[in-house]
Amino acid sequence: MERVGLVSHTRFDRQARFAPLGSHGQARLERSSALIVGCGALGGALAMTLVRSGVGRVKLVDRDVVEESNLPRQVLFEPEDLGRPKALVAQERLARIGGPSRVEAHARHLDAELLRELASDVDLVLDGTDNLATRYLLNDYCVERGIPWIYGGVVGSSGLVLPVLPSLGACLRCLFPEPPPPGALPTCDTAGVLLSAVSAIAAFQSGAALRWLSGDAELRARFSPCLVELDVWTLEAHSLAAPRDPRCPCCGARDFAFLDAAAETDAVSLCGRNTVQVRARRLRRERMDLAALASRLTPLARDVALRDGILRLRLDAIAVTVFPDGRALFEGTSDLDAARALYDRWLGS
Ligand SMILES: [Zn+2]
Repeated sequence: MERVGLVSHTRFDRQARFAPLGSHGQARLERSSALIVGCGALGGALAMTLVRSGVGRVKLVDRDVVEESNLPRQVLFEPEDLGRPKALVAQERLARIGGPSRVEAHARHLDAELLRELASDVDLVLDGTDNLATRYLLNDYCVERGIPWIYGGVVGSSGLVLPVLPSLGACLRCLFPEPPPPGALPTCDTAGVLLSAVSAIAAFQSGAALRWLSGDAELRARFSPCLVELDVWTLEAHSLAAPRDPRCPCCGARDFAFLDAAAETDAVSLCGRNTVQVRARRLRRERMDLAALASRLTPLARDVALRDGILRLRLDAIAVTVFPDGRALFEGTSDLDAARALYDRWLGS
């Protein structure tokens, strides 16, 4: 067989034969790094593609644990993973793929502080989240620091992709200056979601990511970002030019309100689920002694179990998961105050 470039007869031969990538692009991929925010449906598909493609360093951050209703569309998880942190399970599954990628996993809630810590040394950020608050935070941080990021969103059978590339096109707020009020848009909870749609959106995001990461400065300058909208049920797809809006509050006026405000909230309702997340308040960010907490709660709560560094227990109808950073998920309620009260009462505020 004819030799092509530097990586012929290697693992990445077929990929490097794709001329726009080539062996030099493949070598750049292996030296590149990406942060994937969320490792559920979109994030899992993105992580698998980046690792199989040989991206050198992949960081994962996800605050959640695997649930049964994730299995139809979250490709890295199996029934034996139920209740375990998604980021850690994903890291284990991705390690089996082999190849040059190093995968780093963070089972933590992404706030502005953690985003600064994780994104400061990566070449690209990929959106695998399920909520707008995190996306506006990503947009603020990445625009402020000139880091490219790729928005992806899926509901039902359709979705949107927008690569936000520094000085080359629109940012999220050029197109959508303010997030809509809660409840204004359909969510995976109200409208459902298909794996086919997730796969299609993740494919567009990861394709754009591979092109960016494998390109040199000249190739990157020719990348003209656009907003892609597609529907795997009606088989419709549109690609719209997305130029910068000079009046944009974020990339124009450089007002990073979401980055500045992100640290304040201590309880949030998680999109698409009857679950509330409560975080330790700002002055109590030290790590929790979960073993001590487990022995204290064993006589008081049901099904108290400490595994993989996280504590799970039941308080009547509410399933509680506690993480070492002091964050807790309350499954079985959407009442922020009730969840905060449970946190204060059982875990200490
Ligand atoms: Zn903008």
